[in-house]
This record gives sequence, structure tokens and C-alpha cells, in this order.
Amino acid sequence: MKNLMMPVLVIVPLTVGALWVLTGSKSETQAALPGAEAEAVETVPRVVGTGPFVAPMACDDPLVCVVQNHVDLKVGPGIADSACGGRTYDEHQGVDFRILDLPTMLKGVPVVAVADGEVIGTRDGEYDGAWLAAGRDAVEDRDCGNGVSIRHDDGHVTQVCHLRRGSVLVETGERVTQGQRIASVGMSGRAEFPHVHLSVTKDDARIDPFTGRAIGKGCGASVAEGGLWSGTVPDHWQAGAGPFIFKSGFTNAPVTMATVERAPADPTAASASMVFYARAVGLREGDVERIELTGPDGFDPVGSVGEPLARDKAQIMRFVGRPAEDKTPLPVGEYHGRYQILRGGEPVLDISRRFVLR
Ligand SMILES: [Zn+2]
Repeated sequence: MKNLMMPVLVIVPLTVGALWVLTGSKSETQAALPGAEAEAVETVPRVVGTGPFVAPMACDDPLVCVVQNHVDLKVGPGIADSACGGRTYDEHQGVDFRILDLPTMLKGVPVVAVADGEVIGTRDGEYDGAWLAAGRDAVEDRDCGNGVSIRHDDGHVTQVCHLRRGSVLVETGERVTQGQRIASVGMSGRAEFPHVHLSVTKDDARIDPFTGRAIGKGCGASVAEGGLWSGTVPDHWQAGAGPFIFKSGFTNAPVTMATVERAPADPTAASASMVFYARAVGLREGDVERIELTGPDGFDPVGSVGEPLARDKAQIMRFVGRPAEDKTPLPVGEYHGRYQILRGGEPVLDISRRFVLR
């Protein structure tokens, strides 16, 4: 039981100040596990949009892509996404459609024209990851990175940013049709993770594609009330939806947001440590997170519970694990990781993962 009385590894609060404390006893922890092996995905309600646009990339699977940051509809300090919540950041003028991780990006995820139109500008040749690797100067005046701008036939102008280096398939002056592949998802320019930033303007005003409103014209409208999306709009795109798990698993050392973007190594029987991590999107002020890791006989369970979040979080990452200072070999057998988000005391996300150490 000694691990339950001491901090486990380093909990990475990232944007949250409070360190977590350990909670629960071994028996409570084990009783709480349902033994589920797969990640639970809630049913995905959809609304019908009647606007002119399709998504800038295929984005139907909430385990592979989500809308992480919406347009900030509030002028000046403070933020408001299309649902008047906090799934955005100050002065964010587009929508970030993000994909799971770098291995997914390297497979080549298509970016498409959201509607028919004429290409009015392109840039390619900017390096993916330049901002993280070399800092602000590397993307000075090139926040968008590689991009394509299109003037659509109804007067909207769209721009997609952070495209993968060498992936832009169209040239200025070219006609494109809705759904035509124009590039691949990347992380060039000012991007911390692989995603497409879509910005929309009309008559020089910035438009939120979820509400059809210009920035400064209020939040709270729905997709069905003037949003620019056509057809069914997955719940996981919408500002008020979530939370969603967005990659979780087991690895052999403490993780950072950057290592979770890559492919963390599996633990082995020779690993010094065993870590369970979970990244989630769409958390709200007041949400409480729990994370725990249990294993076979000989592995003392570890777990943490967070303080209620002080504000909405577009994304968060947590991990828990056995300290590397514990020199005894990891016992082989089944390990279970569980991550929960409680809202008003009720679980709104509850995922369990299993890993067999041989
Ligand atoms: Zn963005």
C-alpha cells in the first residue's frame, strides 16, 4: 500500500495549477473497475445543417479527429465559442480540426475544398513542427504555415492553414470543386499539434462557420440556425459537445503532451515504470477528473483525483504510474487503466483500457 501514501510520478497539470492527490484504497480501486477493455464511445447525436460547406477534412470518427478550438466570438479580452463556452482561445479566428497524433498525420490525411471556388493563394515549403522546434521567429509572419485560400462562388473566402510540407496540390487561379483534395493535414506555421485551421471571411468580416455569425455578433446560435455546414454535423464538432477521450494508453515513462503526439513506447517486463495516460477534449469549468492504474498481484494500484477545473479546457492530458524509483520488476499480467470525468458528480466520460504485460 505504500504507493498509495506517496505521490506517483509527476502528474502533469499542464494548464492546471493544482497537483493531484492520491485517493482510494486498493479494494475500492479494484471494485470500481468494470473490466471493460475497449474505449467507450458515447452515441453521437448529430444536427442537420443546410449551409454550403463540407468539412475541410473527413472527420466522422471522434476517436480520430475532433474540433479542438472554435472561433473566439468575443471581441477584445475574454473568450466565447459558438456555444458561449470556452472551447477556444483569445482572438482565435478560425476552427481547429485536429487529428489524433503525428503517426496519423504521416499516413496522409486529406484536406479538401469546403465548397466550389477559385484558388486565390497558396503557400508551401514551410516545415512541419517548426514552431515547436525553433520558436516564434521560425514562423514570423507565417503563422498559417502552408495554406490555401479559396474564393467561393457565394462570396465566402476560406483559408486552410498548417498544411503538411509538400502536400499542396492546387495553384492560384485554379478552379476547385467541393470535396476535392487540395492538400494534407500537417503542423506547419504556428501549430503545436497536427490540425487544419479553417478561417472563413465574407465581405471582409470573420465568420464562424458553426453559427454563420461574424465575430462580435454574439454566441449561442446553433448550426441549424445559420451555420455554414451542409448535411449532418457530428456532435463531436460542436462547441458544447464532449468531453471526448482523444488518445489513451500505456507506456514506460512519464509523458508530456508532445510525447503523446508521437507513439509512446509500450511497457515491457524490463521497464522501470508503468504509466497509464489519457488525453481528453472539451472539459468544462468544475469538471473533476479521476485516473487510476491497477495491475496483477504485486503491483500496488495508483490513482489520483483532480481539483475541480477552474475554467473550461479545450484539451487536457493526465497520467499516473508507478515511480521508476521502485526497483522491483514489474509483475507480468493484466493492467487496467481508467480515466473518468465527473460533471456535477456524475461521470460524463468513463474509459477503461487494458494492457497485458508478458
Ligand atoms: Zn487555429
